[in-house]
Amino acid sequence: MPIRHFTKRLFSKVAWRAYNTYWKGLNYNTQFSRAVEILDAPLETIEAFQTERLEQLLQHAFQTTPYYRELLRTAHADISQIPPLEKEDIREQLNRLYSTAFTPKQRIRNATTRSTGTPLTFYQDRNYWNQRNLSTYYFDQWADWNFGEPQLVIWGSPADLEGDAHWKHRFNNYWRNQYWLNGFGLTDTAMWAALEKMRHDQPQTILAYPSSLYQFAKFIFENGLTLLCKFKGIISSAEMLHPYYRTLAEYVFKTKVYNRYGSREVGVIAMECEAGRMHINCRDLYLEIESPDPYTEPGEILITQLNSYAMPFIRYRIGDIGLLSDEMCPCGNDLPILAELLGRTTATFRTRNGTLIHGSYFTEQFHDIDGVTQFQIIQESLRHCVLKVVPDEKWTETTRYYLVQSIQGALGTMVVVTVELVDEIPLSPSGKREYTISKVDSDIDDL
Ligand SMILES: [Zn+2]
Repeated sequence: MPIRHFTKRLFSKVAWRAYNTYWKGLNYNTQFSRAVEILDAPLETIEAFQTERLEQLLQHAFQTTPYYRELLRTAHADISQIPPLEKEDIREQLNRLYSTAFTPKQRIRNATTRSTGTPLTFYQDRNYWNQRNLSTYYFDQWADWNFGEPQLVIWGSPADLEGDAHWKHRFNNYWRNQYWLNGFGLTDTAMWAALEKMRHDQPQTILAYPSSLYQFAKFIFENGLTLLCKFKGIISSAEMLHPYYRTLAEYVFKTKVYNRYGSREVGVIAMECEAGRMHINCRDLYLEIESPDPYTEPGEILITQLNSYAMPFIRYRIGDIGLLSDEMCPCGNDLPILAELLGRTTATFRTRNGTLIHGSYFTEQFHDIDGVTQFQIIQESLRHCVLKVVPDEKWTETTRYYLVQSIQGALGTMVVVTVELVDEIPLSPSGKREYTISKVDSDIDDL
């Protein structure tokens, strides 16, 4: 290893310890060891820890938040009896969700950015962030990441990229030993520059939005380029990791892609292990599936964040659909498994007879059709869909016919499909690629 790489890595590791200890008030070594002890523990230990933390949270919520005092009626409530926390509840009752145990100064503001809804503002506390960071570091190590090692970050959230050229952003990148490639502006020039920087910095892992990772992998593949650095793992986060994204990225970067499922509201929810299973982060969360049988019938995911004390999130409806598994993973970790993550409820279509069609049904079928560079299907109502296509020179009327037939095959022949040929399909405000959007509410009667 060249001396400059070694020095930078060492500097990053030292800066990392100092940052957590003096700036964040976290005794990193001790707290990280404690976190690892729980996350690597046998299932009974994990469950006992989780039950104790859940009981503490419910008592705290009852004693210090007006919203939960009215809802729970007792300090020893049964969680299954508590109505899910909806995004509307947070918008409308934010002042009643705060814990009186925290001063306004101790509350740290955070917010989501969603293309299909109003951004959601909420508050967290320092300990929540410290615990969240510890878990993220723990799970990222599954992808062979270690602090101080050079990492390529392909990310697109405007909140994270604010002041891209600002000295603070550059300074943070320097001491974290990260190189950022803006997922919003993946131009050929930016990708050429990134490849040159990678040759120089030799990143060992990648952290990326899967759609941006795919775009970068496709650029490398289509130009027949050879990578001059060796990767140990790739962490994919913040969007659905479609199988064809994974296949191309693993082929091009010659390493495994690990799917990390998380959100701004609650942190890391689940992480893929080397055996390809998604393990649930039971140290920080209590995860439920709203379904008569969560092991056989997919349902909406409800999350209780066990460290969020400034503003408790109890049975928070996060907007994703999933299924549990009761198998023990061959990787040896006992954290329970999320068998399937079927994506966002807003990306899932409903037919007139009530069947759910997950967005990946269309993305798997349409991603490599000749004539289609990009597409987006919007279910406007149970009777009407809009298909936006960015065509290329291979586009024909046969392609149009095939796409309309496929959509009608899934949603019903009575559904009217309007095909719009467009120059581009913009990313969502948070920089994510949305292939399917449903505007059909599960409760409306559109028959
Ligand atoms: Zn596993």
